Amino acid sequence: MKDYLVRGMVKNRPIRVFACQTTNLVEEARKLHDLWPTSAAALGRMMSSVLMMASMEKNNEKLTVTINGGGPIGTMLCVTRGDGKIKGFVGDPHCMYTNNETGKLAVGYAVGNQGYLQVIKDMGLKEPFVSQVPLQSGEIGDDFTMYFAASEQTPSAVSVGVLVGETNEVLASGGFIVQMMPGATEEDITYVEEALTDFPPVSSQIHDGLTPEEILERLLDDVEILGHQDLKYECGCSKEHFAEALLTLGKSELEDILNTDGFCEVNCQFCNKKYRFEKAELEAMIASL
Ligand code: ZN
Repeated sequence: MKDYLVRGMVKNRPIRVFACQTTNLVEEARKLHDLWPTSAAALGRMMSSVLMMASMEKNNEKLTVTINGGGPIGTMLCVTRGDGKIKGFVGDPHCMYTNNETGKLAVGYAVGNQGYLQVIKDMGLKEPFVSQVPLQSGEIGDDFTMYFAASEQTPSAVSVGVLVGETNEVLASGGFIVQMMPGATEEDITYVEEALTDFPPVSSQIHDGLTPEEILERLLDDVEILGHQDLKYECGCSKEHFAEALLTLGKSELEDILNTDGFCEVNCQFCNKKYRFEKAELEAMIASL
């Protein structure tokens, strides 16, 4: 099944909903970064959350989301432009921690909870919008719930999950978000809370073959799907992009590289592709400055 997300409303209630399945793109990220299970689960949960967040924006703003909770995974970063394409990485791709009692992947431990979730929305204006909230548990879903409540004044329930197989491949990934819009009553809130009680984990529902639409319909009555978007992992980097970045180092720094190594190799953090700039290319760059 292809990766995609849907957004919709609950009929006759001020409640909006989002759901996604991201199994393929998280598996793609796992292969690119050689992610071990806890790192894969953490980044996968974050990518599902960020993709749903991006689909709430109206103008395809560039979203850059960073999580750093002081845990062993280090800094996690995801970037999307609201076009369904996402890229991301984690500081330590080789985290493998499980909870002793439940045997589940210990994402909260790997991420840590002594830090922040930061969102930068670049709308093409001079100043990007920057907002930051303290992490709740490092389990990712809770942390995005806090972000929507504190930063966007939108009470939300965020549920994201990743199921990793015995040989580390991603078997299922996805999530859903339920948001209370202005005008929601106590009765609406209770309705959602009751629906969420004992709702099975989203990753196992995806693994069982349920689509994002079916998960929403199982959760709430009268869901009306209003939009659909295909999702994929895409870096989009190029040699030109890295050449521009090198130019920003300035003349003396580039001359330094030329005189010390005679070439320059840069590694893209998002896809691990390597780009090599030879002596003549560096000389041409320096001459252009
Ligand atoms: Zn790249």
